Amino acid sequence: MPNARILDGKALANRLQAELAQEVQAWSAVTGVKPGLAVVLVGAEPASMVYVRNKRKAAHSAGFEDHLIEMPSDISQQALVDEVEKLNANPAVHGILVQLPLPKHLDSEQILRRIRPEKDADGFHPVNMGLLALGTPKLVPCTPLGVKELLIRESIPTKGKRVVVVGRSNIVGKPMALLLMAKGEGGDATVTIVHTASEDMPGLCREADILVVAAGQPEMVKGSWIKPGAVVIDVGIHRRADGSLCGDVDFAEASEVASAITPVPGGVGPLTIAMLLRNTFEAAKSLVSSNPS
Ligand code: NDP
Repeated sequence: MPNARILDGKALANRLQAELAQEVQAWSAVTGVKPGLAVVLVGAEPASMVYVRNKRKAAHSAGFEDHLIEMPSDISQQALVDEVEKLNANPAVHGILVQLPLPKHLDSEQILRRIRPEKDADGFHPVNMGLLALGTPKLVPCTPLGVKELLIRESIPTKGKRVVVVGRSNIVGKPMALLLMAKGEGGDATVTIVHTASEDMPGLCREADILVVAAGQPEMVKGSWIKPGAVVIDVGIHRRADGSLCGDVDFAEASEVASAITPVPGGVGPLTIAMLLRNTFEAAKSLVSSNPS
């Protein structure tokens, strides 16, 4: 039996989705509009198909209208941009998600920049990243937003705490650090970001009261890297050769040292989808109130 409290992201995601479904129902009753999420899937990569299926299922059960746009893997950059522009102009679509990764011949960054910032359900557009950096967030990348929600709902204080974020990617590490250093609930932390050029990774991680790991390296963080009693959030997800899943943290070791830890699967992953729906609903509310029909 691990010593650490298990932070059950799946149960929390279910609660968040039930709360959201109620809010959506009340809002739709007043406005006559259903929040619309468009998911663009290019090609038929099996992992992407599973993610898209899960997102659509969750959207449907929360009372959203979902639009699936399937494109062949050899689609041209211009044809995909045209598709995004159509969704930008479609009043029934409030959130647009282009499932990554895209085939290698496509420039993902340029495609994501063509999504209208007001419909950027993933929060990856430079305008949304800029607003987050300025401390006035609108649509925030879903995975770090889910981690913040988890910390708040599990009553894990962040104010004044030493947080170490492993990884500086634009979709997880960087926005995670920005959220944790922002003023207010779930923020106000003293944040360190570490990456491949950091010296003494284990020592830096051991300074953390809260350690958030998004390195994309299976079971890299060992029990000896964790300060006794720290909270460990494992964003990583990997499939082992035997088909089982693991994170970026060695769960067996870490759960002996930490006071609380997210499992993989069932930790951060389900929260990402819950936050995607939350972003889409926020986008819908703001688009409908600024342009009532
Ligand atoms: P990226 O590969 O884009 O970024 C990884 C980051 O970790 C980089 O900044 C890299 O540093 C750093 N890093 C890699 N190896 C080390 C190391 N040995 N020591 C220190 N830092 C290291 O990954 P993502 O941020 O996209 O994703 C991270 C993980 O989270 C992946 O396992 C991914 O599958 C998972 N993920 C899970 C999601 C979920 O919903 N649960 C959603 C998104 C991602 P550098 O910049 O120097 O290269």
